[in-house]
Amino acid sequence: RAKAEGRDRLRFYDAQLDAQVREQQVMMRALRTAVQAQAFHLVYQPQVNVRTGAVVGVEALLRWTLPDGSSVSPATFIPLAERMGVMLHLGTWVLREAARQAQAWRQAGAPTRVAVNVSAAQFQDPQFVAAVRAALADHLLPAELLELEVTETLLMHDVPRVRQVLQELKGLGVTLSLDDFGTGYSSLRYLQAFPIDTLKIDRSFLSSEHQGDQVILGAIVSLGRTLGLQVIAEGVETPAQERLLLALGCEWMQGFLYARPMTVDELDLWRGAWGQRRTRVSGP
Ligand code: C2E
Ligand code: MG
Ligand code: MG
Ligand code: MG
Repeated sequence: RAKAEGRDRLRFYDAQLDAQVREQQVMMRALRTAVQAQAFHLVYQPQVNVRTGAVVGVEALLRWTLPDGSSVSPATFIPLAERMGVMLHLGTWVLREAARQAQAWRQAGAPTRVAVNVSAAQFQDPQFVAAVRAALADHLLPAELLELEVTETLLMHDVPRVRQVLQELKGLGVTLSLDDFGTGYSSLRYLQAFPIDTLKIDRSFLSSEHQGDQVILGAIVSLGRTLGLQVIAEGVETPAQERLLLALGCEWMQGFLYARPMTVDELDLWRGAWGQRRTRVSGP
């Protein structure tokens, strides 16, 4: 009997695995078509200095638009795109599209620094620095309006090469930030060895109820300040989190409390509303 049950369960797992594999194959096919059809767009999430009310920048976030108008989260399709070998192509498009948009904002009189997430495929590409230089040059974008977000995982291998690449990027004049800080192998040595400008505290340290995480949060903020880095918290959702961060000395924030990632038109509207809120709060 037990044997039969075991066999049934095995068959069940088998069927499930099968369904998963099939689903992935369907998704891979769809993704390949999407890359050909360029069915992607960027949304932008503001980063604000809560003390001054200034919009310090926006982060560009990739979206895959499905034929029915809905969109798929990059958390699902980016790992797939990496495995399929199309992430370099996609990431280069993101870089250029973000640079184009940053130049459009600049020409409209609202210069806004745009932060772009860098994938492993891009960072490992020998042509990466050249691609960044070309994106700036082709769109006549001043480098200080571009920020590149890298993760600790990207920095782990081949330290001399990584340092070289980061230094060349800094040489172009772009800003470098360390994304999801605290979730990878946060070797403090990286912070010293690499020319990083900004630490982005991962949102897991905010959302957690653990007292210990608040201690870590405080430690990351003071570490950043001690090393002369800018510190920004991502995933700020509640006024309580904002208060805590301000008390710890972190003033730059990004999260649903201020705005979700938005289209360019939505962001324009948001800017107006945000400016008004600012005058209400700090006005005479
Ligand atoms: P990330 O770079 O850490 O981006 C922040 C993510 O947190 C975004 O998810 C954003 O929508 C979400 N977020 C922001 N504020 C809040 C909040 O208050 N609460 C919650 N729950 N979430 C918040 P998204 O857009 O789904 O992107 C997920 C990840 O996919 C990104 O994490 C990044 O690692 C990757 N990604 C997105 N766009 C790109 C891209 O163009 N290139 C590459 N290589 N990776 C990208
Ligand atoms: Mg990011
Ligand atoms: Mg992040
Ligand atoms: Mg994250």
